[in-house]
Amino acid sequence: MIPRYFDWAATTPMCAQALQAYQQTALTYIGNPSSLHKAGIDAAAFLKEQRGQTAILLGVPATTITYTSGATESDSIPILAQLWRRTPGRIIFSSIEHDAISQYRRLLQDKGFDIKILRARDGYVDPDELASLLTADTQLVCVMLVNNVVGTVQPIAEIAQRIRIFQKETGKMIHLHCDAVQALGKIPIDLIHLDVDSAAFSAHKFQGPRGVGILYNRTANLTALSKGGGQERMLRPGTENTAGIAAMNAALDNTMNGLPENLAKATVLRRDFEQRLSSLRGVALVSPSMDSNGRVSPYIAAISIHGIPSEIFTRVMYDRGYCISSGSACSNNTKLKSDTLLTSMGFSPSTAASTIRISFGPATSREELAQLCDTIQEESEKLQHIVRK
Ligand code: PLP
Repeated sequence: MIPRYFDWAATTPMCAQALQAYQQTALTYIGNPSSLHKAGIDAAAFLKEQRGQTAILLGVPATTITYTSGATESDSIPILAQLWRRTPGRIIFSSIEHDAISQYRRLLQDKGFDIKILRARDGYVDPDELASLLTADTQLVCVMLVNNVVGTVQPIAEIAQRIRIFQKETGKMIHLHCDAVQALGKIPIDLIHLDVDSAAFSAHKFQGPRGVGILYNRTANLTALSKGGGQERMLRPGTENTAGIAAMNAALDNTMNGLPENLAKATVLRRDFEQRLSSLRGVALVSPSMDSNGRVSPYIAAISIHGIPSEIFTRVMYDRGYCISSGSACSNNTKLKSDTLLTSMGFSPSTAASTIRISFGPATSREELAQLCDTIQEESEKLQHIVRK
């Protein structure tokens, strides 16, 4: 394990089980699952078995599982499917979606869709506000489960409830898509209870390989924009990444087994971290506190270093051997985007500009966190002293 790694929300190291599953599958199932010879038929049977395994781990039917290249692709499928509609209607995005979703706003607007933004004051969307945005021509609603910058957990089941009531009243179907990337393996998820139509997951966020993901989709009416060999029931054409899928399942199995214990440990660590933070001068918690409302992931903590731009602080911490993030690390020009996200939540531009993200994983220890806090204190004092001069 890399010491001083506090960027688990960006990506995670592959676990031993995933590495082993990858190697074993790559060596055993060499065929293309679409080929009609023995190697292909064996690979197809293995893939079927794996799909059943993923479905069990997610608590959903196997027919709802589509394997993709990651969450960016899983998010894109239900969004781009809207382009097949004859008449573009309304699409609602929460204001705190990851770029994998929010970057489609412009394209959809250009294609004539009526894009509405559901605000997330203090990091949370309001189901009643969502209900007020629903119209008879609303086609799609996208709200993430755990925000990747501040860790807020959105009220997805309540959002779904408002949508289903509206559907009953109007007889119109509205697709609810949920980016649940930062939730899977970290906090318990019940997709059936959440009542979403589709959800996106990514293996590298739970110690699986990069470049593999899942689209959960329970509807029959999504038509992919990508065309090709018809794999994955036409939703995601392209030769399946058999070894990657097996590795993802091994990681998912591992992470689900460890979830209660790891969550309890992360919650203790987070409280400890918050307590240490409260005694640091010029440093403040931006994420909601663990004890404020119970709707925050203990694994993601955004903090601001008063008066110090986050990219400078991240760089200084890098020089001290720490891997932390100046926002969401999964897009270029990250800084600007997380600033915009934070100001949209109601934080001042100066807080947004000085916010860094610390994210934990199962390997994070109390000692490591204590050292991190000491280093944050030392470096922030030094920099703040320079700024004051
Ligand atoms: N959605 C969220 C919330 C994320 O944090 C990320 C990650 O980086 C993504 C989507 C994109 O995931 P991937 O890297 O698998 O495409």
